[in-house]
Amino acid sequence: MIGLLRRLAATMTLPVLLVLAWWWTSDASTNFYLPPLRQILAAFAEVWIGDRFATDVLPSLARLAAGYLIAAVAGIGAGVSQTRIEDADTDRPMITFRDADGHPRRIDCDYVAGCDGLHGVSRTTIPESVRTVAQRAYPFSRLGILADVPPSTDELIYAWHPDGFALHSMRSAAVSRLYPQVAPDDDVTNWLDGRVWEALSTRFALDGWALKSGPTLEKSVTPMRSFVSAPMRWGRLFLAGDASHIVPPTGAKGLNLAIADVNKLGTALVRAIQDGRDDLIDGYSDDALRRVWQATHFSWWMTSMPHAPPAADPDAGFLRQMQTTQLAYVTSSPTAAAGLAENYTGAVLPY
Ligand SMILES: Cc1cc2nc3c(=O)[nH]c(=O)nc-3n(C[C@H](O)[C@H](O)[C@H](O)COP(=O)(O)OP(=O)(O)OC[C@H]3O[C@@H](n4cnc5c(N)ncnc54)[C@H](O)[C@@H]3O)c2cc1C
Repeated sequence: MIGLLRRLAATMTLPVLLVLAWWWTSDASTNFYLPPLRQILAAFAEVWIGDRFATDVLPSLARLAAGYLIAAVAGIGAGVSQTRIEDADTDRPMITFRDADGHPRRIDCDYVAGCDGLHGVSRTTIPESVRTVAQRAYPFSRLGILADVPPSTDELIYAWHPDGFALHSMRSAAVSRLYPQVAPDDDVTNWLDGRVWEALSTRFALDGWALKSGPTLEKSVTPMRSFVSAPMRWGRLFLAGDASHIVPPTGAKGLNLAIADVNKLGTALVRAIQDGRDDLIDGYSDDALRRVWQATHFSWWMTSMPHAPPAADPDAGFLRQMQTTQLAYVTSSPTAAAGLAENYTGAVLPY
């Protein structure tokens, strides 16, 4: 018995001393990343054996399970493959595919609305000899952060800084959405929370104002790209949304453009099918592209103004000066500010 107690004491003494030392040295800590041990234990008890287990943990697990179930049913059970759009330049286009059981299927159509995003089959159905693509890959990316912290302000903040752009926005009253500019080939593993908050605090630094920090819930790197494929119609195939055009996220025009496309296309198809009048479907591509190019120009301009050029760019010094001059202009001239505002809200876009 005494031998057993001795072995137990020998095994446990060091861990107990370390825990006591941790408790004692962390007790007065106000550092977000090194909270007092008593606070960690209290949070642990609250989450795993307190009220939050029922109100927070179980609903989270239920949502996760529901997500997996929906993905399994919709993505695997009802999934189709080998989708193709055929004879789009004739009066009887069709969509062919294999269903979930591998059986070949075919849908005969009057018209095909290609709303299948950047990686769908619609755009590439249009022959290359007919299609023209204009695009720009920007020399930077954005790290999208979802953080479990209330927004630091009610406003969206676009910040210019020599280290790189930063955007403050919000997902809800309790969750913030933040985007620091990163290198185009950067990886989320390079951005641990400490580095994220340090970079954001530096880029948002303003006298009398402080950014709230907290645990991050999600991180992803988004490349920045402008892309327009024209025309948006080939025969009886009509492209809408990301299937035809991509804008960088600055200015938040992507979804708005997609909705504007389907709104116009829907009206045009109803007119063609119900009234037998082709004027709107005939004008669809040109009308949509006018709007797309205007939004593409605005997104390019809004992207070019606050994102720092790569340090290796031989024109970096000149470009930075152009950016700060442009920013000074839009923030001091009511006319320039109005120009930004009417594009930002979409008031001047031919929706
Ligand atoms: C990180 C990020 C943030 C963004 N933030 C904003 C923002 O704040 N504001 C904004 O306006 N825009 C934003 N956008 C852009 C916006 O999400 C897109 O512009 C918009 O979703 C385009 O809609 P869409 O329907 O054209 O394409 P998608 O949303 O890509 O939808 C296409 C759908 O077609 C499906 N599909 C493809 N092929 C097939 C097939 N063969 N059979 C069946 N289905 C198929 C795809 O699965 C997909 O569901 C953001 C984009 C990203 C990536």
